[in-house]
Amino acid sequence: MSLLSLENVSTTYRSPTGAFRAIEDVSLTIAQGETVGLVGESGCGKSTLGKTLMRLVPTSQGQIRLDDEDITHASGRALLPARRKLQMIFQDPFASLNPRHSIRRILTGPLKVHGVKGRAERERIAQEIVLEVGLPADSLDRFPHEFSGGQRQRIGIARALILQPQLIVCDEPVSALDLSIQAQIINLLVRLKREFGLSYLFISHDLSVVRYFADRVLVMYLGRIVESGPTQEVWDSP
Ligand code: ADP
Ligand code: ADP
Repeated sequence: MSLLSLENVSTTYRSPTGAFRAIEDVSLTIAQGETVGLVGESGCGKSTLGKTLMRLVPTSQGQIRLDDEDITHASGRALLPARRKLQMIFQDPFASLNPRHSIRRILTGPLKVHGVKGRAERERIAQEIVLEVGLPADSLDRFPHEFSGGQRQRIGIARALILQPQLIVCDEPVSALDLSIQAQIINLLVRLKREFGLSYLFISHDLSVVRYFADRVLVMYLGRIVESGPTQEVWDSP
């Protein structure tokens, strides 16, 4: 059974001036422990697809299933279990980290929302994750601006990990980083995958990273998936 599946999913952005269908008739499955690369030129709909399966933008057609449960239109409390299983990391973690919140608050907040009881227990889990992702041991008392770009991505990864998700959507997570730092972050993601059996949807315009990292690749063009297959096959095809 697949962990996540999309069946004939379309997502339409609506504005006062009209409607724009950013992804059209997309079907895909992601198995537990699988890394699926998603490539395609800028503006083809990769981020929208990631946000669609995270249920961050509404689906206008089709069905999204997680652990065989239909989550296409779940909202509010009904979406909480899915929010635990699905997490996302972004190109610029700073954009999604509140600069006024300590790393303690950034990491313990989701635990509180998801009902982990006891401040000491939440802090214990947060400290464990800090060490797991290779951040300095005293990180909890610090704030996002005190960290380098690569370290901030580690904070983003720590926040994604803290609820023990099954799938992490990685939207260009290393594109803004220096090459040597990119390698460190990719190696961290690879290690976490081995350790926790995580699945990834890895969105990137950088084909060499996808080639190194993904088991399978989906190619998007103008909102549709136009090609898919094992990484090596997609690369070798003419
Ligand atoms: P990619 O990640 O491949 O660069 P996106 O998913 O970000 O592509 O964007 C796909 C298309 O949807 C683009 O034409 C973009 O301009 C449009 N788009 C993205 N977000 C919105 C939005 N919030 N409202 C309207 N159009 C959007
Ligand atoms: P800020 O710097 O914005 O106050 P902090 O994380 O330092 O952010 O703390 C925010 C509030 O949450 C403070 O009132 C603090 O006492 C409380 N707090 C700090 N850590 C925890 C925690 N692990 N669980 C619950 N509340 C906490």
